[in-house]
Amino acid sequence: MDNFYYSLASGSSGNCGLLALDGTYILIDLGVSVRRLTALLGGLGLTIDDLDAVLLTHEHIDHIKGMATFVKRHSVPLYTAIGTAEALSRKFPQANDHLRPFYSGANFTVGNVKVYAFPTPHDAAESTGYRFEADGMRVGYATDLGFVPTPVREALLGCSTVVLESNHDPEMLRTGPYPYALQQRVAGPRGHLSNPDCAKLAVELVQNGTSQLILAHLSDKNNTPGHARLETEAALRAAGLSCTILVAPKDEMEQPLLLTREEACVCCPSA
Ligand SMILES: [Zn+2]
Ligand SMILES: [Zn+2]
Repeated sequence: MDNFYYSLASGSSGNCGLLALDGTYILIDLGVSVRRLTALLGGLGLTIDDLDAVLLTHEHIDHIKGMATFVKRHSVPLYTAIGTAEALSRKFPQANDHLRPFYSGANFTVGNVKVYAFPTPHDAAESTGYRFEADGMRVGYATDLGFVPTPVREALLGCSTVVLESNHDPEMLRTGPYPYALQQRVAGPRGHLSNPDCAKLAVELVQNGTSQLILAHLSDKNNTPGHARLETEAALRAAGLSCTILVAPKDEMEQPLLLTREEACVCCPSA
């Protein structure tokens, strides 16, 4: 059975990704409507009820847009950190029966997949990133983080595939349309990861075996796919490294990314 990652939406207007690992289907965030989710899963021959779980990173609207309708119609469990669960159950009391709160830093299992949930620095109740392990594969997921603290770095090192935020180009943010206070929030330690910070971590990840990198949660106003890709490619090239880089589009990916087991060769870097 194929292991794959399929981004259904990424960026300030919505976030949602499907991870298929060892026959287990995990949806990360619910930032699309149920109608759209149904259609996109249908394109893969799946239905919402084929999902083993939804894992939520935090309660911001771009990550939970479809939640109210979802809990009305489906009984797929929603895993999230306890602080996020509290914030969500205040907003959506009808979600209570579906929520599976965990303590950040916890390990748990969904189907055949071992999940490690780690805290991320962001201006939400208790935002979370994830590492997934199954079938000899390790996949990391971290978006909505103002910087890369050591526990986040350590959780992602050694993952063969990593979905990592590359939110903004600092110069575009500084000269862009956002008011000063919002610029400060985005660039701050509980905001979003910049292209240079993403690129810096990418070098370390590839040095430690990451061979597929998906740049995610790009800002509409303060970034372009070209800026994000160039920054990380240049940093890898300068370090004598290379890896497969995809930029998650605002809407769905053209096709799922098949996850590979092969590790980037760090002993004979490409020119
Ligand atoms: Zn957020
Ligand atoms: Zn977000």
